[in-house]
Amino acid sequence: MTGGAGYVGSVCAARLVEAGHEVVVVDDLSTGHEDAVPDGARFVRADIADAAPALLAEGFDGVLHFAAKSLVGESMQDPAKYWSGNVVTSLKLLDAMRAAGTPRLVFSSTAATYGEPDAVPIPETAPTRPTNTYGATKLAIDHAITSYAAAHGLAAVSLRYFNVAGAYGRYGERHTTETHLIPIVLQVASGKREKLSIYGDDYPTADGTCVRDYIHVVDLADAHQLALEHAETGSHRIFNLGSGTGFSNREVVQTCREITGHPIPTEFAPRRPGDPAVLVASSAAATTHLGWKPERTALPQIITDAWEFTQTHLA
Ligand code: UDP
Repeated sequence: MTGGAGYVGSVCAARLVEAGHEVVVVDDLSTGHEDAVPDGARFVRADIADAAPALLAEGFDGVLHFAAKSLVGESMQDPAKYWSGNVVTSLKLLDAMRAAGTPRLVFSSTAATYGEPDAVPIPETAPTRPTNTYGATKLAIDHAITSYAAAHGLAAVSLRYFNVAGAYGRYGERHTTETHLIPIVLQVASGKREKLSIYGDDYPTADGTCVRDYIHVVDLADAHQLALEHAETGSHRIFNLGSGTGFSNREVVQTCREITGHPIPTEFAPRRPGDPAVLVASSAAATTHLGWKPERTALPQIITDAWEFTQTHLA
């Protein structure tokens, strides 16, 4: 598993270890945390491109590839970091898998591959027109995986995450540079930040703020296990993963107020460039083909889990 010391990777590693899998985490700790690697997983601190050939030669059933640069704003200012860090590194990983004969790949893709949708909920057949470099690099990797699967018999699944939130016990979101809405709101609730800037109140939505589809990180992790089990030789399947319901930024803040008991002061700020008004997933394909059904879709539950993690582990 690459990037298993990060937020989604660490939850997935923990769930896989609990399910009885033997897990090796490779992470350079550029954004991850060593103490997020679960007990029971072997940890290798290394650059993936350097470590993959020798490691994969040991023989693995599959690779879960989470490691990536994932800050949208940074991707616009420093595209080379994203084309190199995401695309070049992933191509090296694919080549190492091919050389070692590793049969399966599950890749962390993103809703950012779609850009501004024509209609919601978004199915996997929607046009892919990323509005930022981050999304463009993830889409490029998806294309590469499709080619490798067709030509070399790789069994591959890409999972396009919508807005991941929540936590799993001691595994949660801990970014040095935090840009995501729920952790930022919870920083305000825990006194680490004075107020929240809501980016834009003039979107064509019911309350003028953007609408997003929040998926609990544990539901997301479970989809990875199903993807590993269902990957088919020579095929690359792509699935959207969301809860299928949209919540506006104002609604998220209000739910956070109710859960934390903090007033959470807000101010309106200009729109953030590249932010689509509404992103909601159709996860019908994941349900049909993977047998996946998200069980933690209630926003209060997602926020309660994130709040518990914030209070216990980010104090
Ligand atoms: N957002 C905001 N203030 C913040 C961080 C985010 O208003 O400090 C908004 C952002 O503009 C978007 C929504 O919250 O409309 C979700 O943003 P996030 O970065 O969490 O996820 P994204 O949808 O960009 O992947």
